[in-house]
Amino acid sequence: MPEVDEVIETDVLVVGGGGAGIVAAIEAAKHGVEVTLAVKGLIGHSGCTPAALGGIAGFYVRDPRDSWWQHFCDTVLGGSFLSDQALVEVFVKEAPMALFALEDWGCIWDRDEDGGPYLRQFGGHTYARSVSSGDRSGSEMIKGLKARLVRSPVRVLDEVNVTKLLIDARGEVAGATAVSVRDGKFIVFKAKAVVLATGGMGRVFPLAYTGDWNVGDGYYMAMLAGARVVDLEMLQWHPTAIWWPPGLRGMAGSEALRSEGGRLYNKHGERFMIKYSPEWLEVATRDFISRSIYREYMAGNATERGGVYLSLTHIPPEVIEKRLPSMFANIKSVGIDIRTEPFEITPAAHYTDGGVVVNVMFESEDIPGLYAVGETAGGIHGGNRLGSNSLPDLMVTGIRAGQAASIRATRLKKAGMVAKVPQDQVKEEMQRVFAPLERGDGISPLELRDRHLDLMWKYVSVIRDGKGLGQAVAEMDAMWSQELPKVRVSDGSKTWNYEWLEALDLYPRLFMSQAMALSALLRTESRANHYREDYPDTDNKNWLKNIEVTYDPSASSLSKMIKTTARPVRVTLLTPEEAGLPGLAD
Ligand SMILES: Cc1cc2nc3c(=O)[nH]c(=O)nc-3n(C[C@H](O)[C@H](O)[C@H](O)COP(=O)(O)OP(=O)(O)OC[C@H]3O[C@@H](n4cnc5c(N)ncnc54)[C@H](O)[C@@H]3O)c2cc1C
Repeated sequence: MPEVDEVIETDVLVVGGGGAGIVAAIEAAKHGVEVTLAVKGLIGHSGCTPAALGGIAGFYVRDPRDSWWQHFCDTVLGGSFLSDQALVEVFVKEAPMALFALEDWGCIWDRDEDGGPYLRQFGGHTYARSVSSGDRSGSEMIKGLKARLVRSPVRVLDEVNVTKLLIDARGEVAGATAVSVRDGKFIVFKAKAVVLATGGMGRVFPLAYTGDWNVGDGYYMAMLAGARVVDLEMLQWHPTAIWWPPGLRGMAGSEALRSEGGRLYNKHGERFMIKYSPEWLEVATRDFISRSIYREYMAGNATERGGVYLSLTHIPPEVIEKRLPSMFANIKSVGIDIRTEPFEITPAAHYTDGGVVVNVMFESEDIPGLYAVGETAGGIHGGNRLGSNSLPDLMVTGIRAGQAASIRATRLKKAGMVAKVPQDQVKEEMQRVFAPLERGDGISPLELRDRHLDLMWKYVSVIRDGKGLGQAVAEMDAMWSQELPKVRVSDGSKTWNYEWLEALDLYPRLFMSQAMALSALLRTESRANHYREDYPDTDNKNWLKNIEVTYDPSASSLSKMIKTTARPVRVTLLTPEEAGLPGLAD
């Protein structure tokens, strides 16, 4: 039986090194507590944040018509009325300050002729209110955050995979366990507060824009510790991920490809959007286009490589060069000239709308001392996040949770409280973590992962129905109980062993996918990012509800371990009647 290799005591442990984790760590450290940040990937190079493209919403001060209230209404209505309005209020009121903070920290936003920030208007936003840095707003943001981080006393541990939260006898956070990806060391963190910033779970699908390791670790750890997670059936799809040429597979195909006039064709050369949306054609909403492409696949109309064509060849070449310079250059670099040839695209998982149920300080409503920020927090975006609303969200949630975590740590320190790590939890976790390395024979984690990815794409992705979801639930039950306990890593090394990492990722991958499928099964309507072929209409009378999932460790199968409950949406400022939602009356 392996031993604990290292025990690290810290006041605040931040898990995840995308934008939200970095912000929370900087903020907590400002208040004089010891902060450790553990990242599964590399700080600032993992997760979605560096890949973010278009902009950051929250700049209301230039347009006298705009206000936090307008941004509030846009966010709630864009989220199909599932947002937690108390959280949205905090978010929209503090987003402008977050943008100013980023400028202070060295981020440079594009300017207008008059020297003010150049503002973009994204879909669902009533006014132009998003600052940007060309089509690399996320990397500009990370540049500012990292510059700030290196000047703070935060201790950063790269390539440390946090696997479990430790909960003390009072039901409060006491720390976490982790394994080092570099050398397989087993680490125990003792902490007075833990901030989960592990991003979303897009990687449970075969093609995703999200960071390589975003399989829902934060949601999984929170649920196992006793926290509720909400709105998991709401996963946003982006229709134009590059599928071919293969050198760019999975790269985000900019929205501008369609807004500049790009056309979609199936393998027969049919411009299929004429059939699905004669009015909007290729500029229909992201979810609608994703569904249209998926329908083409179901009808056997995919190309022989498995995508659909996106063609710009009817657009004057100089327009392509001027308006789509990055796309033109990137695709040219792998041998396709988009001025004269089509390329292939397909829908990709983009954003997880749901997350851990939190209060306005982004602390779990169920576990004192546990915080969730950025894409790991639930509630703000309801059923559908508006473009450019996530980067300001990670600023606001990171700052608030960082402050709250440091206040809690200071209070516990003053009271002389020491985190009491439950040894039985540590021992059990060590056994689980090292088991795939020690099995003599068994199932390959990569093979199980790939079968699971196919299952998710087939039954839980863009278009769902009760029969398919039921099938997915049954198959995931079997994968969890019959196959996962037999997973074996072929090479027993603990050093840079990515097969081992994949084996460990199977736990959050299967568990959270099952939670998503069960939530989708319960919601017998279509709304926002959730589409049921057997319930195609939105049902405001019965379904102004959020679906929460909780963990029951005593249950026998995975689908029984995950309990789903529908509860009414939290309304504080805008009622469904005031918003004029259709179909409320009998
Ligand atoms: C292509 C693309 C374009 C986008 N464009 C925009 C845009 O223009 N505007 C906008 O507002 N939003 C945009 N988004 C969304 C936005 O980028 C993300 O929602 C946001 O950056 C999420 O930040 P985060 O810090 O919560 O998570 P991430 O940035 O995903 O970071 C997650 C971190 O957690 C770490 N991690 C995961 N599991 C563990 C574990 N077990 N232990 C330790 N560490 C762990 C990862 O290594 C990573 O460091 C875009 C997203 C994509 C993919």
